[in-house]
Amino acid sequence: MELHNTGKFLARKGINFVRQKIYSIGANYYCPLCESNIRKFMPAGSPPRIQCQCPVCGSRERHRLLWLYIKEKFDAFSSCTDILYTSPAWPLEGKLRENSNVNMITSDINLDVISNGLSDKSVDVYSDITSLSFRDDTFDLIICSHVLEHVQNDKRAIAEMSRVLKKDGYALVMVPQSDVLNKTHEDIGITTPKNRSQAFGAPNHVRQYGKDFYQRLSDNGFSVSTMTVPDWLNQTKIKRHGLRLHSPGHTSLESGQDWQYEKLYICIPSNKNYK
Ligand SMILES: [Zn+2]
Repeated sequence: MELHNTGKFLARKGINFVRQKIYSIGANYYCPLCESNIRKFMPAGSPPRIQCQCPVCGSRERHRLLWLYIKEKFDAFSSCTDILYTSPAWPLEGKLRENSNVNMITSDINLDVISNGLSDKSVDVYSDITSLSFRDDTFDLIICSHVLEHVQNDKRAIAEMSRVLKKDGYALVMVPQSDVLNKTHEDIGITTPKNRSQAFGAPNHVRQYGKDFYQRLSDNGFSVSTMTVPDWLNQTKIKRHGLRLHSPGHTSLESGQDWQYEKLYICIPSNKNYK
């Protein structure tokens, strides 16, 4: 039985290797994270999105967008930058760590690790985003991408991010969001993975954000501006970098699938009145 499983594992690995090679060889597209020219981005996600995942480094659309934006916004880290990256994705984390001016702490909550007392090197700090273990005014930049939809008390998490940001710092926030829903759909009575998938689009999501997500950020400590990819980059660049960012809203709405351009929320603390 074990040998059978090993054989299946190796076969799957072999298929993935060949698949990655097929997608890698070429120069139609470019991944700004691993700086590779590639033939095509691979499909990935649930439901799968075309032109999603880099066959070389594994980055997805939102990681590439965040990197392009951060690089420009922070002038390629020409000065020292303190970053908190919550629930990090390696392609972006690795790229940020290449910069000598970046002081970055990666953070996540992992209840299994905490309760078992095990160490895990995948993040620097295990910290609940609703009760961050950092002093006020610590970071120049917080990256919080596709995290809040998993957090029961997301309002508290937003307020915590505002607290630990420096007065002139930025939080870059992304969530799966529906443009069909005016009001965010959440229900603490929906707890099973199956019911959460139906109601919120994934087994571990606790809500489906709607158009009012902006307000939730504003109400909990931020001045907010939003950006979609076409607001910022031309179509040639969007295509070449595989940035056709669409956020899958859940499909149980009457209107069916509501794909849309994913938004980047650029948040500045609004509640820091220093004398
Ligand atoms: Zn890549």
